[in-house]
Amino acid sequence: MAANLLDFDLEGLAAFCGSLGEKRFRATQLFRWIHQKGASDFAQMSDLAKSLRDKLADAAEIRPLSVVSEHVSDDGTVKWLFDVGAGDAIETVFIPEVDRGTLCISSQAGCAVGCRFCSTGHQGFSRNLTTGEILAQLWQAEHQLRRRLNLAAGERAITNVVMMGMGEPLQNYSALLPALRVMLDDHAYGLSRRRVTVSSSGVVPMIERLREDCPVALAVSLHAPDDALRDQLVPLNKKYPLQELLAACRRYLASAPRDFITFEYCMLDGVNDSPTQADALVRLVRDADIACKFNLIPFNPFPASGLTRSPRERVLAFAQRLQDAGLVTTVRKTRGDDIDAACGQLAGEVQDRTRVVARLRRVPVVVQPVQRV
Ligand code: SAH
Ligand code: SF4
Repeated sequence: MAANLLDFDLEGLAAFCGSLGEKRFRATQLFRWIHQKGASDFAQMSDLAKSLRDKLADAAEIRPLSVVSEHVSDDGTVKWLFDVGAGDAIETVFIPEVDRGTLCISSQAGCAVGCRFCSTGHQGFSRNLTTGEILAQLWQAEHQLRRRLNLAAGERAITNVVMMGMGEPLQNYSALLPALRVMLDDHAYGLSRRRVTVSSSGVVPMIERLREDCPVALAVSLHAPDDALRDQLVPLNKKYPLQELLAACRRYLASAPRDFITFEYCMLDGVNDSPTQADALVRLVRDADIACKFNLIPFNPFPASGLTRSPRERVLAFAQRLQDAGLVTTVRKTRGDDIDAACGQLAGEVQDRTRVVARLRRVPVVVQPVQRV
């Protein structure tokens, strides 16, 4: 099969050009055509020699994802459903705001972590996306939005990327890393490290790797102030408990482009939203001595979860308690509600190839009350 050029960062593309007997610097021109201009046809690439264009047409392609559907919300949020073959589909969401445009990208078809409150988790896991499939989400969204919004040359539709779609990005590290490099590369999207966020449920060894290889902004899905509760909400906690996770976060900060870690906390009615739990959370991050901000996410319900969203007053009271203790806290606005594009509602369509679904079904969705401290 022809090589998919979306699979390569600039180094990889240079090596590929080398394998065609071409000078490596040609890769930079090609890279710019693909990512900056959105070209998919080698014939368009007018400043490349005809002989190179012919070689590329034989040996390579720029493989888009096939669009199953596209929904535009009243608030301008756009959600795409892409077919990635073998019965799997993934979702990508664009969230426009006054001063930025954020793309929420998927990293896997499904997810093997199996968090209780997450619709992707309840679907099970099918497979890792390739670098080309991760980047195609950005490539397609950016160039389509530029055309649609009639942007002037050089203007960007997408200014921020969050790896918060379907999947656990740090469980697909080898595909994620080149994709991040392309997002940051000035010859491609040129996004600053502060504007690319990897969100993780806490794969400790891979947080270390990311710190060494490509430190970008880091968001960690916390959801509980203690191991007993987190074990139940985020099963990965049994492998990497809170103290190990927080230690990895602290080390990450030494290389991070931002001087804080964002902790995401999904507000679940009667499960993790009490004032006592807010106080425990304050103590947890204080004792660990971590510069952080909290982002409270009102739970987006889906029937199989058996959980409900914390009432608005309780979310605000929880936020206030964290604020009063000096922790910067925001409550995430729910966007794209009318098209099911909110956090944790990205279900796509996944052929489960694991036991995640069976496991979630076997254990009733009952969350033990948090240990009082
Ligand atoms: N796997 C990564 C990134 C994808 S999930 C992670 O877990 O961080 C992105 C965010 O959405 C996470 O913070 C996740 O906890 C949150 N989330 C998942 N399901 C949700 C739901 N039903 N309602 C609100 N937030 C949810
Ligand atoms: Fe996977 Fe993140 Fe959903 Fe947990 S919240 S199941 S880690 S996608």
